[in-house]
Amino acid sequence: MRYLSTRGNAPALSFCDILLGGLAPDGGLYLPETYPRIGRAELDAWRGLSYSGLALAILSRFIDDIPPADLETLVRETYTAETYRFVAHRSEQAAEITPLHWLEPGKLALLSLSNGPTLAFKDMAMQLLGNLFEHVLARRGETINILGATSGDTGSAAEYAMRGKRNVNVFMLSPHGRMSAFQRAQMYSLQEANIHNIAITGMFDVAQDVVKAVANDAPFKARYRIGAVNSINWARVLAQIVYYFRGYFAATRSNDELVSFAVPTGNFGNICAGHIARRMGLPIARLILATNENDVLDEFFRTGCYRPRRAAETRVTSSPSMDISKASNFERFVFDLVGRDADRLRALWEKVDQGGAFDLSGTPYFAERAAFGFVSGRSAHADRLDTIRDVFERHGVTIDPHTADGVKVAREHPQPDGIPVIVLETAQAAKFADTIREAIGRDPERPAGFAGIEDLPQKVDVLAPDAEAIKAYIAARV
Ligand SMILES: *Cc1c(COP(=O)(O)O)cnc(C)c1O
Repeated sequence: MRYLSTRGNAPALSFCDILLGGLAPDGGLYLPETYPRIGRAELDAWRGLSYSGLALAILSRFIDDIPPADLETLVRETYTAETYRFVAHRSEQAAEITPLHWLEPGKLALLSLSNGPTLAFKDMAMQLLGNLFEHVLARRGETINILGATSGDTGSAAEYAMRGKRNVNVFMLSPHGRMSAFQRAQMYSLQEANIHNIAITGMFDVAQDVVKAVANDAPFKARYRIGAVNSINWARVLAQIVYYFRGYFAATRSNDELVSFAVPTGNFGNICAGHIARRMGLPIARLILATNENDVLDEFFRTGCYRPRRAAETRVTSSPSMDISKASNFERFVFDLVGRDADRLRALWEKVDQGGAFDLSGTPYFAERAAFGFVSGRSAHADRLDTIRDVFERHGVTIDPHTADGVKVAREHPQPDGIPVIVLETAQAAKFADTIREAIGRDPERPAGFAGIEDLPQKVDVLAPDAEAIKAYIAARV
C-alpha cells in the first residue's frame, strides 16, 4: 500500500516512511492510494473477531512493510483487557475493549471508547502509535524526541503511550495552572525518565507558539530529531477505523443492517476514520458530525463555506477538547469530496493557508456531501448541561461534556426505524467534574485506580514561554 499527499506534489511512500513524519513535503496530508473494499464475505468473517483480531485484520490491509508476525504481536500487546480496564458503564460486554451501552435499545447507544489509561478515546490510537514507534525506531536504529503542547487530553494520552518506550523521549508543554487538578495529576505523576512535563507560564496558545518556534528551527529540529504525535498522523486515523467496525458488529445482528454514527468533533480526526470505514464498505447510513460553539465544521456542512477562525476567535468552552479554529484533518475529507483532484484541493488550501476561506456551495461537490453520508449540528453550554442531566435522569448514565455534544446532535437527526445511532463516547465524565457538578449537582464517579491521584508526587518543571529556554532544556536531556 502506497500513500499519496493530498496536494499531489510529494513522492508516494510506504506506511513506515510516513509513520514518523508529519505533513508531506508539499504541505499536504498523506492518504492511502485507494481504500481497500471490504466485501460481504470478509464482513461476515470479521463479525466474530476479538478487538485485537479485528484491528489486525484491518491494519493488515493498510500496512505491508511491517512483517506480519511483528504486526500481530504489536496489535495484540496494544489491545489488551488489562490496558482498557477502566470501564465506564456496567454492561453485558464490560470485559471488551470498547463495550456498547444501549441508552434506548435498538435506537441509541454509546460506544465506550475511553476505558484506557487516560480515560479518553485518544488512548485507542495513541497506544498503538507508541508500540509502532518503538518497533520502527528499533529496526532503523533511530531515536525521536516528541515535542508537543497540550491543554489536556492529547498530551496525557501521548505520555501514557510513550512512557518507558525505548528510543523515545516526550517533551510536553502545558499551560501552568490552567488544567484541572485531575489532569495535572494524571500527567505530572508519571515518573518515567523519558517523560518530561514542562508547565509554561501562559495559556495553551502561548505554549503552542513556543512549540512552533522550536520546530521552525530546522537545524535544531534535525539535530535533535524533533517529532510530533499530533492528530494529522495517519496511523492515528487508521487505528480509529477499527472501532467503527466493532461498534457496527456490536449494534447489529447481521451485515444487512445499517447504523449511523454521531461523532463529537474537533480536528476531524475521529470522524475522518468513520468516513474511511464507510468508503471501505461498512454499512453506515449517516455520519452525524457534532461541534460545540466552535462550529467551523458544522458551518461547512450546512453552507458549503469553510472559514477557519483565527486562534484569537476560538471560544473557550466546557467541551474543551473540541475548541479548535481550524480542523487539521479536514483536508483529507475534502480531497475525497473533490474526487481526489489534487490541483483543485491545492487551490482551495492556498486560500486557507493565507488565512482565508473557500466556498463550495453551488458546486456539484457540495451536493455530494449527502452521498458521503454527512449531516451536522452544534451544541452550546446550556445544551450540554441539559443533555448530561437528561441522560443521567432517564438512563442513570453520566456522560462527559463532549459525548453530550454528540448525543444532543444525534437526537436532532432521528434516523429511520431500524437504523440505530451509535454515539462515540470520547471521554469519561470523571475528567470534567466541574461541568458534571453544574449539570447534575454531584461529582462523577471515578473508576477504580484513580482515587486520590492528586496526592501522588509530581514531576514537572515550570519554564517561561521562551523557545531558547526550551531548546536548552531539551539539549540538556537527550
Ligand atoms: C480530541 C477529542 C475530541 C475531538 O476529536 P477529533 O479527532 O479532534 O475530532 C472530542 N472529545 C474528546 C474528549 C477529545 O479528547
